[in-house]
Amino acid sequence: MENFNWNQGFTLDFNLQSGFSQNAGTTKRYLSDMRDFYGDTETVESILEKDNPLIYEFYELGCPEREGDLAFGTTIVYPGLVGSEYYMTKGHFHKKVDTAEVYYVLEGEGYMVMEDPGGNTREISMKKGEAIYVPRSFAHRSVNTGEGPLVMFFTFAADAGHDYGTIEQKGYHHMICRRDGEAVVMENRKWN
Ligand code: MN
Repeated sequence: MENFNWNQGFTLDFNLQSGFSQNAGTTKRYLSDMRDFYGDTETVESILEKDNPLIYEFYELGCPEREGDLAFGTTIVYPGLVGSEYYMTKGHFHKKVDTAEVYYVLEGEGYMVMEDPGGNTREISMKKGEAIYVPRSFAHRSVNTGEGPLVMFFTFAADAGHDYGTIEQKGYHHMICRRDGEAVVMENRKWN
């Protein structure tokens, strides 16, 4: 992985179909990293007895967490189901909660699942060629409801920080599940 010069500027290759870069490393999240994030714990454990599928990966470029810088990269969420629930990212709040984020869908389709600390929820469907604005204060999770990978480019304030713990403990109010071949928004009975 290259060292990027955040003070001098740089270019970076990104393949806009795959979301991959040759000059940046990915962080990979497997099902075993997310066993408590899915509603159907029994199905999670039965899948893990045989297999540990890659759910998603993203590029971290090591952007310094400085006010004024912009972190950016791609996220690739693979297609699949855990029971009836689609593959998804963990989801997070920003530590500086009042910072927004922009995503652009390069390939595939899915949902951006959002909720704020007051419990206001929002699910926005998204597909290739669309940009999504994630408003300040909303936790956000990308869900792949399509047949192929969901590939997204993102950028956000570099000093925003990430808070994964709140979602890990509480979960989201809503989940995106497959019913009769369609993606539907469901209540998450495990929310606490
Ligand atoms: Mn974010």
